[in-house]
Amino acid sequence: MEILSTPNEARQFTRSLRAKGIRIGLVPTMGALHAGHLSLVNQSQQACDATIATIFVNPTQFAPSEDLSRYPRTLEQDYEMLEAAGIAAVFVPRVESMYPPGFSTYVDPPEIARTLEGNCRPEHFRGVTTVVMKLFQAVPADSAFFGKKDYQQWKVIEAMSRDLDVGVDVVACEIIRESDGLALSSRNRYLDPNERRRALRLSMALKELEQAISAGERDVATLQGGMRQVLVSGDGVSQIDYAVIVNANTLVPLSTLDRPAVALIAARVGQTRLIDNRELCFGSKLLGGR
Ligand code: AMP
Repeated sequence: MEILSTPNEARQFTRSLRAKGIRIGLVPTMGALHAGHLSLVNQSQQACDATIATIFVNPTQFAPSEDLSRYPRTLEQDYEMLEAAGIAAVFVPRVESMYPPGFSTYVDPPEIARTLEGNCRPEHFRGVTTVVMKLFQAVPADSAFFGKKDYQQWKVIEAMSRDLDVGVDVVACEIIRESDGLALSSRNRYLDPNERRRALRLSMALKELEQAISAGERDVATLQGGMRQVLVSGDGVSQIDYAVIVNANTLVPLSTLDRPAVALIAARVGQTRLIDNRELCFGSKLLGGR
């Protein structure tokens, strides 16, 4: 596995493979890898001839008050996991090589970035679109793999890629969970045992939502009320940023469940901000993609 450290090096490596007709899959990450990241790597390995992962904790997507400085960094372990997965290369740029002195060009995020995470974290998606565009330039891949765990981020990158004719096929991968339902996240490392238990409220709220829908409930206000109840009851989450059911494609609020929808939750447990979601399908399709 090659370790690439500058955008130029990454571009030359990628171009040399593509010149041989090798189809490249890109898997962008911020490191502290877990089975969720590896599922993206595996899907890339299956769909493409070679995979290039990236590890970069992107400062421009963190607000000053957020966890940039304490974000978990486990580089040696990450290398071992990626090596074992058999990928061609990992691109691990330093902050100065992505944002050298004088850097001042940003990608203005699409409309779909303005709601939900965009409300809670105003500069976040501008940092995401900018860094993903830069990663697409450094690693001009055929396909890029993103997790539905970050549902809105997937939609933002999809819209950006379409609007700016990026020419990379954006592939979305299903959420990987612990056996008790908690969605895997690098930030789960922040949770102490008590918080870990409280964090289960997010997946429980989504599960109970699914049950309520199966039982016939279609009123979004009622369903959202039920989710919030599960989130806060007993030893629940510390704060709900949002717990909503919206149009799965546009993220526009719904009043009744009459089209493909997604339930999205962002909540804090202690100091840790967690997100989770569940796609809700209707008509001939069964709930939750079953
Ligand atoms: P991150 O390192 O948190 O920026 O995540 C890198 C990529 O992995 C993003 O596309 C995430 O959506 C994806 N990802 C993170 N956690 C999971 C998970 N539990 N299941 C599937 N994909 C995930």
